[in-house]
Amino acid sequence: MIIGKGSNCLFDDLGFDGCVILNRIEFLERIESDIYRVGSGFRFNRLGVQCSNEGFTGLEFAGGIPGTVGGATYMNAGANGQEIADVIDSIEIVTTEGKFQTLNRTDLDFSYRSSPFQDMDHLAAIFAVTFRLKHSKSARKRQHEYLERRRISQPVGERSAGSVFRNPSNMEVAAAELIERAGLKGHRVGGAMVSNIHANFFINIGDSTSQDMLQLIGLVKEMVYEKFGVKLKEEVLYVHPYCHGLNPYKDKRPAV
Ligand SMILES: Cc1cc2nc3c(=O)[nH]c(=O)nc-3n(C[C@H](O)[C@H](O)[C@H](O)COP(=O)(O)OP(=O)(O)OC[C@H]3O[C@@H](n4cnc5c(N)ncnc54)[C@H](O)[C@@H]3O)c2cc1C
Repeated sequence: MIIGKGSNCLFDDLGFDGCVILNRIEFLERIESDIYRVGSGFRFNRLGVQCSNEGFTGLEFAGGIPGTVGGATYMNAGANGQEIADVIDSIEIVTTEGKFQTLNRTDLDFSYRSSPFQDMDHLAAIFAVTFRLKHSKSARKRQHEYLERRRISQPVGERSAGSVFRNPSNMEVAAAELIERAGLKGHRVGGAMVSNIHANFFINIGDSTSQDMLQLIGLVKEMVYEKFGVKLKEEVLYVHPYCHGLNPYKDKRPAV
């Protein structure tokens, strides 16, 4: 299994029975003034800040996301009405047979927190991503505003894997709001706690085990379903010792 920063993963305390590759492909090159080709291990946050500072729009939201370009592409990361898929031009991958392939964005289907890579049998790794960006004089200012908003509304500095659940589809309401309305802010199981600042962030307050976190996830799902009839779906990836191969999403074992 290849990981970027592991910022969207919940690893079981028993570990993973296989090889975990930490991605350090960290180059960035300007192909043309508005086209960036970036190694998949490059820090996504850094890319967002750099592009915005250089007067390009599309990746302002990346400021404050603690992952890599490869992880963000695999997850179709997004925030503030932007998502990475909107500005991708092409993606270079390595297949399980060791072949390089360049895929055009126009041939790939992305949707909310979902990419074709989550379902791709022959994917070994995303190697590099090419972005085509548009000029915007206000990008830098916007990037600062988004980051400030994040500082106020999220438990920045606490240990978490970001949003635990995806926002329910076809509903106006966010997962965080449902959890908050169910009265679960501050709710604890062992060392795992629903953040008091943002109810969709579950934080490790010191000594959380993976089981604490999984129990809290299960409990919140149950309570939200009981109260509102909504089945929340995990965004966070649970990696356990019996995961087979690269893709936790394809592992049919339920998360909890
Ligand atoms: C404080 C905080 C805030 C966050 N805010 C947001 C947000 O606003 N929006 C959002 O969408 N997410 C957010 N996240 C979640 C997470 O940071 C993103 O999903 C991020 O893009 C994941 O990147 P990563 O490199 O850490 O991926 P990892 O967690 O390392 O991996 C995630 C998945 O991608 C796969 N993967 C990673 N790299 C590659 C590669 N090169 N090739 C093939 N597969 C690969 C892994 O195998 C795994 O299945 C947040 C997380 C935290 C902790």
